[in-house]
Amino acid sequence: MPQNPKDPNHPGRRVDWSHTQFETRAIRAGQDPDAEYNSVIVPIYQTSTYRHNAIGDFNGYEYSRTDNPTRTALQASVASLEGGEWGLAFSSGTAATREVATLLDPGDHILMTTDAYGGTFRLFDTVFRKYGVETSTADLSDLDAAKAAVRSNTRMIWLETPTNPAMRITDIAAMREIADGVGAMLVVDNTFATPYLQQPLALGADLVVHSSTKYLGGHSDVIGGMVVGNDETLYQQLKDLQNGAGSVPGPMDCWLTLRGIKTLALRMDRHSENGMAVAHYLQQHPKVSQVFYPGLPDHPGHDIAKRQMRSFGGMVSFRAAGGREAAMKIVESTKLIMLAESLGGVESLIEHPDTMTHASVSGTPLGVDGDVIRFSVGIENIDDLLADLGQALERA
Ligand SMILES: *Cc1c(COP(=O)(O)O)cnc(C)c1O
Repeated sequence: MPQNPKDPNHPGRRVDWSHTQFETRAIRAGQDPDAEYNSVIVPIYQTSTYRHNAIGDFNGYEYSRTDNPTRTALQASVASLEGGEWGLAFSSGTAATREVATLLDPGDHILMTTDAYGGTFRLFDTVFRKYGVETSTADLSDLDAAKAAVRSNTRMIWLETPTNPAMRITDIAAMREIADGVGAMLVVDNTFATPYLQQPLALGADLVVHSSTKYLGGHSDVIGGMVVGNDETLYQQLKDLQNGAGSVPGPMDCWLTLRGIKTLALRMDRHSENGMAVAHYLQQHPKVSQVFYPGLPDHPGHDIAKRQMRSFGGMVSFRAAGGREAAMKIVESTKLIMLAESLGGVESLIEHPDTMTHASVSGTPLGVDGDVIRFSVGIENIDDLLADLGQALERA
């Protein structure tokens, strides 16, 4: 078994590879050769159930909603990379988000970043509102705005940094203090940065959430979510929800995510390098009026980003100088760079948030201006990317 259930690390607990560096842990943590055949790669345990030797005598795995060895390996891997004590995998980033919000009670308040993932806002504002959990938003990159927005019943502060698509940066350590002021839990959706670029638990977050659909998986071939933390009580509550509410990923999805994670460091280095080159290119282009990228020195969050991130990642947003029509023309004119929602894969994807990813919040305070384009910069050759972007901009 990749994770002997008699091992105190089971299930989903961090495996102690703490003496090794991130790149090494991405390849090995949670992924010991299986005991039976010494397979170097964790097998896909495509089974729903497990044989008992006798009543009460089974080797830790009973039923795959509760635990599955491939999932255990993924959980231990991501826990190790985030520097958390434990990790739990879910069927999507949205499912992970829902389980975290389920920790709250009627009457509680969630304060979230204004331009957090639209689906997260929709989930809180529709499903959880019905159960008496209130949600409000504020620009949490502005600490004064954050302080003014917390309420006496704020029990959860939900952060994304960088945000999407405005690429706002929030000081995670400063938000810890604000959360402590009202006794709220601090949750960071670390999907954009990944643990390679930013480790929120070390900066004071209680929980880290991921859409592993994006950079962790990294190949646009699987939907998944993760929650990572240190607190034992939160683990028990979320573990009970994982089993009891049942939003678990299948073993094949866990395996694909684990395979993606092995190259996370390499990919993020190249995403960041290409992201920076694209941001510089766009900044000097006459068809572009503004670039949002935390790696640019004139970005308002640059100094904080430099402090809390290793590098700045592969997400770049910009405004088309010609306005909404020009923005739509540009995203429809790229050839190598595909017009598609989602992000974080090895291939470059471009989109128009106001009519695509953010259409559901169009016209609300969470909406995105029509001239904004979001670019998930892939790891292709940078000259090919700039040539394609250049010809598309010329058509606007
Ligand atoms: C995509 C995304 C989600 C939702 O994850 P799914 O896997 O699509 O359910 C949550 N947060 C962020 C930042 C995302 O980009």
